[in-house]
Amino acid sequence: MIYEIKISHHDMALIQEELEANKPYEACGVLIGIINDSTAHVEKALPVTNVRRTRTSFELDPKEHYDAWNDAEKKGKEIIGIYHTHPVSSAVPSLWDRETMENVTSVWLIAGADGMRAYIWDNGIKAIKIVEYE
Ligand SMILES: [Zn+2]
Repeated sequence: MIYEIKISHHDMALIQEELEANKPYEACGVLIGIINDSTAHVEKALPVTNVRRTRTSFELDPKEHYDAWNDAEKKGKEIIGIYHTHPVSSAVPSLWDRETMENVTSVWLIAGADGMRAYIWDNGIKAIKIVEYE
């Protein structure tokens, strides 16, 4: 089970910029890296077009999502999580998020108006620790 997510200051700043740039709509993207024991180590956050473009939901553009997956695979990495933004609400999974998240094994990082939080699905939604590195 994953207990924490490590993400660089640079990627945290990038996600924050995406939140601002796409306001009032949600922005989303993938987190590429590796999972080591209980730690999800993000090496790169990659923005992906939100094809829904709404204020309350998101859906990764399928082609971009596939290309990101393919590219990660070639480099021996994987998509270890997904991030999305809540520009006008807190970083708590919405009902839509909860329904979508059920049985998804990757980490969900949510950047809300009140900061970032990360979650995994393990018989329910569990918050995990975010560790920022330089
Ligand atoms: Zn959400």
